[in-house]
Amino acid sequence: MRYRIGILKGDDIGLEIVPVTVKVLETAFKKFPDISIEWNELPIGMPAYEKSGETLPQVTLETLEHLDSWILGPIGHMAYPKDDPKALNPHPILRRKFDLMSNIRPTKSYRSIRSLHQNVDIVIIRENNEGFQPDRNMFKGRAEFMPTPDMALSMRVITRKNSEFVARTAFELSLQRNGKRKVTAIHKNTVFKIGCGLFLDCCKDIAKSYPDVEFEDRVVDTFAMNLVMQPQDFDVVVTSNMFGDILTDEAAGLVGGLGMAPGLCVGPDYSMAQATHGSAPDIAGKNIANPYAMIMSGQMMASWLGEKKRDDSMVAAAKLIQTAVESVIEKLETVTPDLGGNSSTEQMGEAVCREIESRA
Ligand code: NAD
Repeated sequence: MRYRIGILKGDDIGLEIVPVTVKVLETAFKKFPDISIEWNELPIGMPAYEKSGETLPQVTLETLEHLDSWILGPIGHMAYPKDDPKALNPHPILRRKFDLMSNIRPTKSYRSIRSLHQNVDIVIIRENNEGFQPDRNMFKGRAEFMPTPDMALSMRVITRKNSEFVARTAFELSLQRNGKRKVTAIHKNTVFKIGCGLFLDCCKDIAKSYPDVEFEDRVVDTFAMNLVMQPQDFDVVVTSNMFGDILTDEAAGLVGGLGMAPGLCVGPDYSMAQATHGSAPDIAGKNIANPYAMIMSGQMMASWLGEKKRDDSMVAAAKLIQTAVESVIEKLETVTPDLGGNSSTEQMGEAVCREIESRA
């Protein structure tokens, strides 16, 4: 099977963790002679802006349409020039253009890593393109404005289409994971009776098609506490954009921090591997960023491609990457400083490659 995959390095630590991720994927794919990859490196972010005056060049947008999937490194948009309309934040544009409605973000604890809890294995599905995020929930204009200098209004969008899509993603994932087979929908319908009401109704409707999966719902404030106190109670969690944005960082904090938080943005046709964390300018250029989140985002992409194209080799390659990464994490010999080690980003990536090569 032949795949066309994009490489978009992003900014700051993206320039370090994305090449390491590509190397890990290449090492795994080489073990399966029937997998053939055409890699397409495309300009994005500040390096693209410095070259062409645009953070999201047209050539990137046009090429992505012809790819199966791509890896997007973290974007450091807070540092982009504020007064230039060509210095756009690329990732909300990509998430909308390619209808990447579900952002799948796993949180897993490892015995070797100091964390607030053990035996945590949760996936949070965050709706990606609506909610309170004013940079993506309007066709034209922005859903945040100031009628007077002393009043700000932000509007929230919830649709049946996106809510049903994320709910379906959650139930399908719960079946695939073979774990607790439980989906928890998070909302605040006590206050947002219409918006959260619609979101929850959609989740309940989709739940009817999955009688083998337990379904429950919780109010977001209670869930935020439950997540800190008893994260082992949950399997797959589904929620709207802003709640998911906050809860996924909270979940990452339970198991070792943002370097341990991968993600995959998924729509009906495309997927985009994108870690939860940002571009970490404070550690950029030092070769100490933890590549786990980016590598595991690439692993999720491989798994999604394998399932979509019914390609057993790609599914096996994804499993191989997961086993190799987990082995490096469990041994804790070659890990970056945030995990208590003294290895570089590259050294940790090389350790994963060695684990892959050593396996049949
Ligand atoms: P951040 O996630 O970049 O960093 C927060 C903290 O976590 C920092 O101390 C950083 O060093 C650490 N960290 C993050 N990733 C790490 C890794 N892989 N290994 C080790 N430590 C890691 O958040 P921020 O500092 O608030 O934002 C920096 C830039 O990233 C901003 O421009 C922000 O807008 C952007 N951002 C982008 C995304 C994205 O692309 N998805 C997400 C969040 C923030």
